[in-house]
Amino acid sequence: RVKNDGKGSAAFFDSSMEREALARMKIEQSLRLAILEKRFCCAFQSKVDIRTQAVKGIEALVRLRDDEGVIQAPGSFINLAGELGLIDELTHLVLAEIVKSIDPINATFGTDATISINVAAKQAGNPEFMRSFARALDATGFPQRFMIEVTEDAFVAKNHFQAEILPMFRKLGVGISIDDFGTGYSSLSALADITADEIKIDRSFITDIHKRPRSQGILRAIESLSEALGMTVIAEGLESFEELAYLQAATKIRYAQGYYFSRPIFLEELKLATPLSSEARASVASRPHQQN
Ligand code: C2E
Ligand code: MG
Ligand code: MG
Ligand code: MG
Repeated sequence: RVKNDGKGSAAFFDSSMEREALARMKIEQSLRLAILEKRFCCAFQSKVDIRTQAVKGIEALVRLRDDEGVIQAPGSFINLAGELGLIDELTHLVLAEIVKSIDPINATFGTDATISINVAAKQAGNPEFMRSFARALDATGFPQRFMIEVTEDAFVAKNHFQAEILPMFRKLGVGISIDDFGTGYSSLSALADITADEIKIDRSFITDIHKRPRSQGILRAIESLSEALGMTVIAEGLESFEELAYLQAATKIRYAQGYYFSRPIFLEELKLATPLSSEARASVASRPHQQN
């Protein structure tokens, strides 16, 4: 509690708390407004076959266009959206945006590319949301194009995620991907109980992998376990040629996602006046060091 011994300092403390509360209310208000006005858009980042540069799939990464028109990355609003109970709506908006953009998505990345949507662990543990999201994916008419990315925490949490929720998605042909693997609370052995199609090794293990023997060991362990369990491995956050060269020389990992191949890109920036040729498509989708 605020002590009122020195009048000046108490007043100072009060007004700084007030300022904080006001600032939070302002963010909350603008987030609600952004949802009402559908001021969210998606950047897409490709998952690339490191041998052929072919695009295996893309991941939708949500962005907020704030009151001043500045594009904000999810780090600045996704947790708050979760706390305020707005994240389910946001996820439905992401799906709507993808459906609306499906023609340019196909023209840019190809019709075989899977389309991944991130689902927060808290959402994954909410059967009501997951049912409504499954229905929405089904309603697109092409549910089998989609994958959901969830962190390993969702699998470990005590809920019916594995037993009831996942089978519902699998029945629709929606793929399941474990995001940021290695950063959560599950052990490698817990992987044996997880049924997923894809496992994404967290960026923290990929950064400077060529110089870090401990990360190399971890990578080998994840790789052999994933192979035994029939899961596709994706290396996240690949930024340099040296990292790529290590993966190619020392592992069987076939897919990577990261700035080295492509930054997340906005479709409208590609100026798709005419459909791209397949060569142009491959170059756009996997060109190293793109902006955004
Ligand atoms: P994530 O799903 O693990 O996505 C990867 C993040 O790493 C993205 O950040 C991406 O832009 C960034 N990234 C990709 N390649 C590289 C690289 O080579 N180097 C570095 N340094 N970073 C790279 P972003 O877009 O800021 O998204 C952050 C997180 O926000 C995502 O992590 C995901 O957990 C969450 N998120 C994004 N979109 C949604 C959404 O629609 N719903 C929910 N619930 N969460 C979302
Ligand atoms: Mg993800
Ligand atoms: Mg990730
Ligand atoms: Mg991440």
